[in-house]
Amino acid sequence: MTALERFLKYISIDTVSNSESELTPSTNNQRILANLLNQELQELGLETYFDEKNCYLYATLKGDENLPKIGFISHLDTSEDAKSDKITPNFIYDYNGTDITLPNKTIMSTKEYPDLVKHKGKTLITTDGNTLLGADDKAGIAEIMTMLEHFSKARIRHGDICVAFTPDEEIGKGMDNFDYSKFSSPIAYTVDGSTLGEISYENFNAATAKIEIEGKSCHCGSAKNIMINASLIANAIVSALPNEIPANTEGYEGFYHLEKIQGTVSSAYLEFLIRDFDKEHFESRKRFIEDLISRLNEKYDNRIKLTLTDSYYNMRNIIEQDMTVVDIATSAMNSLEIEPIIIPIRGGTDGADATYNGLPCPNIGTGGHNFHGTHEYIAVEDMEKVTGILIEMVKENTSRKVLTKGE
Ligand SMILES: [Zn+2]
Repeated sequence: MTALERFLKYISIDTVSNSESELTPSTNNQRILANLLNQELQELGLETYFDEKNCYLYATLKGDENLPKIGFISHLDTSEDAKSDKITPNFIYDYNGTDITLPNKTIMSTKEYPDLVKHKGKTLITTDGNTLLGADDKAGIAEIMTMLEHFSKARIRHGDICVAFTPDEEIGKGMDNFDYSKFSSPIAYTVDGSTLGEISYENFNAATAKIEIEGKSCHCGSAKNIMINASLIANAIVSALPNEIPANTEGYEGFYHLEKIQGTVSSAYLEFLIRDFDKEHFESRKRFIEDLISRLNEKYDNRIKLTLTDSYYNMRNIIEQDMTVVDIATSAMNSLEIEPIIIPIRGGTDGADATYNGLPCPNIGTGGHNFHGTHEYIAVEDMEKVTGILIEMVKENTSRKVLTKGE
């Protein structure tokens, strides 16, 4: 079966996750997709383990035990940011590189999406304009499955190929119940990025600053030297921070993001997200807020309570100690004459979680674009090329020295 055929089958199951749900997984359809994949994996001859309760599917295509292992991970769910029921893929053959009018008459313009032009001559799959497409991350799943089919049939020596399909990535719970003991490869890749050739092994260091301010309220008419307006202190904090905000930053630039602000005279609350790729800069951003609050606390008699919590760290801190896992991907792409595009992830990633749990795990592009919206699209040719990259990565990995888990 081709990656395209698989992709079309997987997107016909609506696996949107639900951030409001208390269930695990957050929606039952993810389990339906996992069951289908479990059956397909078994038909390809893989050993599978399905943690049905938490909806994690693990499988291994057994290889030569003297050869190094490799692993791939994709997520079952799709984003709740756009509708995802009744996805109707729309094919554009030999795309001419101009604006696209979708079946529902909305327009995808090359001005808004300059990457479109690079796909001139390819077969594009878009949506009908009403839903997302689900290339994030069903393209990743289809590419991994097709790579597995290749090795299940071809007589090529390889080590164990481990795969895992995880639920609820889009709602930040992708690795919550991941069982590392069921995944025996010492290295892995999430196949969950965008552009063909993309490799990411850097993500933000992330922290949250919660600031509670207690004011002193009284009648305005007799407030002189008595009233302490918590909202004005909140305003002073916001104003004192540098203008490094998400809307002003890109690439490797970090930021302070004011996520929440609420206040009255008697109390106020602020919540900031702190993000930076560089560990030192990350620490100094946190220190900046601490110093600011301690100065204001001197002035306002300790009325401000700051709680700083680290959320996740840049996986680069670990991966750069041994770049083999990145080299395997770049060599595979180079040998297929696909230019590796190394870009940082301006957010978190399941791979960072895995990396800090001892499983170095960069992210590889699926070929999909405009994730989480109705203008999502993917080129059939790119899906085939990514499948080729995964195949080449397994071969590349086969030719290096054996690593055991934790080495
Ligand atoms: Zn994704």
